[in-house]
Amino acid sequence: MSETVVPPEAAARWRDLADLIEEARHRYYDLDQPTLADAEYDAAFRELTELEAQYPQLASQDSPTATVGGAAQSTFDPVVHREQMYSLEDVFSLDEVAAWQRKMADNWPGEDLAFTAEVKIDGLAVSLTYQNGRLIQAATRGDGKVGEDVTANVRTISSVPARLQGSGWPELVEVRGEVFFLLKDFESVNDQRLAQDERPFVNPRNAAAGSLRQKDPAVTASRPLSMFAHGIGYVEPGPGFVAPTTQEGWYQQLRNWGLPTSPYTQVVHTVDQTRALIERVGSERAQIEHEIDGIVLKLNDLDQQRELGFTSRTPRWAVAYKYPPQEVFTRLLDIQVQVGRTGRVTPFAIFEKVLVAGSHLQHATLHNEEMVRRKGILIGDKVIVRKAGDVIPEVVGPVLEDRDGTERPFVMPTRCPSCGTELAPAKEGDIDLRCPNAGGCPAQITERLAHLGSRGALDVEGLGDEAALALTQPEAGRDEVIAALATGATLTLEDGTVLSLAQPELIPHGERFDRAAQLLPPPTGPVLTSEKDVFDLRVEDLADVLVWRPVNVKGVPTGDWRQVRYFWSQPWRKQGKKFVPVQSVPRKNTVTMLEQLEAAKTKELWRLLVALSIRHVGPTAAQALAQHLPSLDRIEAATREELAQVEGVGQVIAESLEGWFAVDWHREIIDAWRASGVRFADQQVEELPQVLAGLTVVVSGAMPGFDREEAKEAIVARGGKAASSVSKRTAVVVAGPGAGSKVAKAEALGVPVLTEEHFADLLARGQVAIEEARANQS
Ligand code: NAD
Repeated sequence: MSETVVPPEAAARWRDLADLIEEARHRYYDLDQPTLADAEYDAAFRELTELEAQYPQLASQDSPTATVGGAAQSTFDPVVHREQMYSLEDVFSLDEVAAWQRKMADNWPGEDLAFTAEVKIDGLAVSLTYQNGRLIQAATRGDGKVGEDVTANVRTISSVPARLQGSGWPELVEVRGEVFFLLKDFESVNDQRLAQDERPFVNPRNAAAGSLRQKDPAVTASRPLSMFAHGIGYVEPGPGFVAPTTQEGWYQQLRNWGLPTSPYTQVVHTVDQTRALIERVGSERAQIEHEIDGIVLKLNDLDQQRELGFTSRTPRWAVAYKYPPQEVFTRLLDIQVQVGRTGRVTPFAIFEKVLVAGSHLQHATLHNEEMVRRKGILIGDKVIVRKAGDVIPEVVGPVLEDRDGTERPFVMPTRCPSCGTELAPAKEGDIDLRCPNAGGCPAQITERLAHLGSRGALDVEGLGDEAALALTQPEAGRDEVIAALATGATLTLEDGTVLSLAQPELIPHGERFDRAAQLLPPPTGPVLTSEKDVFDLRVEDLADVLVWRPVNVKGVPTGDWRQVRYFWSQPWRKQGKKFVPVQSVPRKNTVTMLEQLEAAKTKELWRLLVALSIRHVGPTAAQALAQHLPSLDRIEAATREELAQVEGVGQVIAESLEGWFAVDWHREIIDAWRASGVRFADQQVEELPQVLAGLTVVVSGAMPGFDREEAKEAIVARGGKAASSVSKRTAVVVAGPGAGSKVAKAEALGVPVLTEEHFADLLARGQVAIEEARANQS
């Protein structure tokens, strides 16, 4: 059979990939400065493997697929590993894991195979040589055959014992393990670096590698590194040494000698068990104390391991499943600022869309100017992006090696991008800048309106971010439309007219923007200029709200724009190429939104409190307030001290409330909402006559129709005080079946006592009921 001839393109591709991988390995292992994302590296490696499978002539002994990445640096003394250190075969899907497990099973038909399933710790590999129980050498992996002597540095790691505990150690053993940072330690190391104006490490792996491969062990000592053992290299048995027969047995042995191993290791047998474990660990990944990038499966039986042996790069008895990437590289296109609900102006990053841990990302908050400075990022940089805590997108930092001098720094604006008001910190020393024009700043009004409609506030369906924007800033996006037109895009107006700039390339650059702007119809004003009028919205007010929308085809923006009626349906329909006028009617969502706004007027007081956007008053504080002070009037009338005493409120919220009520435009909101029928009180309180005001009532024994708590609540709801012991100040004791000594005490003190059948009467008529019962008794 003749060998397939290698086409020149395939050979060229092989060289490109091999070069790319060698370069990436050098930066990653030797310099601790990766410029490729792990996923990109993995993709290149995989392509190379596939190319070699197709054209085996391409595979050579020094191909990256046959070598372990990295090289020992001459700054450290070389250490020849007695037994080679290996990499792992990577797979990226559960099907590949299952196929691997089945392939293993085929080697021993009919046997029940066991595998250790271990978390793949994202750190760097070390080999620890113990001679008669003493640590004599520690080395990095290097190229797998020769590593770097980092003994002095490893000795500073507190979890690596200098002497093994127990007994029965081999003459000599190479313990393989991973040096890494616990996430909390990584954070504190980075905090320290920031405090000393040093660049933070981009990730824990990078930090661990950088900290271990230090010329000065004192630097390593200052960094709280951890180590878990995860394998064994060369073993020279000793007199008392009993060799374990399984991987798991080794881990137990290592633990007995005082070497830490991962608590997450488990033994699995079936494909289903493995799948379940990978999925479970994947979903709990954020709770693990250190970073992991996958799950390693190893045949548990050491005889089986020996039977299969190694390739030049990996053991044949192990495989690593890699989770989808959590960190990727992308291009930082711009840093813009947004104005939040409380006026806080925060910069955020806009980058080229990337897939991180299963979702497409394009934006990440940068919190404040100081953060941008600390991260050292410039607009135009290649940056690393990840999902922090698995949910919030975060820009980790720039790839400095990739700069070409065209990058520019971010400049924090001094004026509000929405209303032009000069920005200032809320109080001296604050890092954050705020727009002080809270009442009139369109961006803040939009945010407050969207907040009002949100789940934690009035929960108004149809009043989300987009509707809030359409109500308060229908022209948002106008500049983007103009910029698009200036570069040749089209705009379809809501009556079907298509606008575009004729031959924009012939118009001087400086004029294109103005010419495009002239094409647009004049701007329209917002329906709402404050949240004050939100409860007065009528469906006819919303008929003419038009907004700008990018045109998407299959979810991908084409660059063109259109103008659409937001709350009502379009007044035309497209028939072939023609636009035919049709009746515009309110959209279903619009009707729902208005109905729900109507219903919101009588919602629980706490929801209305949250809807007012009073600083620090979220659902928890609002519920605490409403429970103790069940109407807005009572909250307003309460002194700061009284507010602060409410459990769950405290000093800060009390001050914030007091300050909020003192602002005129806030009071205008309350007045306007009240005029539209908003009832700022919880029902039972408002409608119950306060017949027990000033009276202390003690209930003892069972009351018909009330449990103990309900009886107390019924008293409080009518303005009374529910006490549990009788004193001279008690106005009345109500005694039901099971009442104890309280009745005798009341009688002794001359306090009137009512029987349980009078409880309802007491709640209805208060003092009068007490008088009457007394008269009847005497
Ligand atoms: P690997 O990381 O896929 O696996 C081998 C390593 O896993 C071992 O050396 C060991 O240190 C570690 N490991 C962690 N937990 C383990 C456990 N429980 N049992 C056994 N080993 C465990 O292989 P590799 O050759 O070190 O590196 C390849 C990977 O490194 C790539 O997939 C990529 O993620 C990354 N890489 C990235 C770049 C880059 O430019 N970004 C360059 C080179 C390598």
